[in-house]
Amino acid sequence: MKIERFEDIVRPGNLSRCEEKKRGQERVGNISPRELAFDIDGVLADTFRVFVETARNQYHVQVAYEDITEYDFRKVIDIDIEIARDIIERILDHPIQMGIRPIEGAVEVLRLLAGEGPILLVTARPGRSAIYEWVLQHLQGVDSNLIRLEATGTHEEKVPILLKHGIRYFVEDRLDTCYLLATAQVTPIVFEQPWNQKPHPFIRVRSWAEIEQMIAWSGSTYAKGCLRDASQKKS
Ligand SMILES: [Mg+2]
Repeated sequence: MKIERFEDIVRPGNLSRCEEKKRGQERVGNISPRELAFDIDGVLADTFRVFVETARNQYHVQVAYEDITEYDFRKVIDIDIEIARDIIERILDHPIQMGIRPIEGAVEVLRLLAGEGPILLVTARPGRSAIYEWVLQHLQGVDSNLIRLEATGTHEEKVPILLKHGIRYFVEDRLDTCYLLATAQVTPIVFEQPWNQKPHPFIRVRSWAEIEQMIAWSGSTYAKGCLRDASQKKS
């Protein structure tokens, strides 16, 4: 049988028990910080939350976050194409002014990671500067030399960028991109969202706390981070 597509090999259900177990083991704190990178929208940034809030509050579109069960939301929600385009443009150009917030726990884990070395964020956004400003604002205090951000403009371009940086694990919310990554030997980690609930064969995480547990922290940094967190809580 000729295997044409990656999906033919790893379609859900085709995984043996042993393979599933092997995948599960990746969870247990053995991903090197150097080999891990992150998508931004839907992983670090709670972007779609603002999309939904803006649609509801400013354009009177009745939509709930959980309604976005497809990455291409136009397939599942009833929204005028011009309105959608308008909101997306504002989200791309003015992420700070639009009030996009980081997803819970993201900032804390990225701060810890910066203690291990440079962190890499790779987005398919077409422009880099607006989202870079947003990231700097939310990672205030982290040396900006440690924050690397690549804006590829297309989903496909993420793959060569990740390979160039020696990345082996990428946290992503768009399933189609996960299949692309897997064909290039970059292991996708699906950050769960309403739009990626279809069956898939990849590792999944529900929160940044789960990501934190998958990382092979060098003892000193992690301990330092935990101590700092504890002292911040006290003050
Ligand atoms: Mg994304």
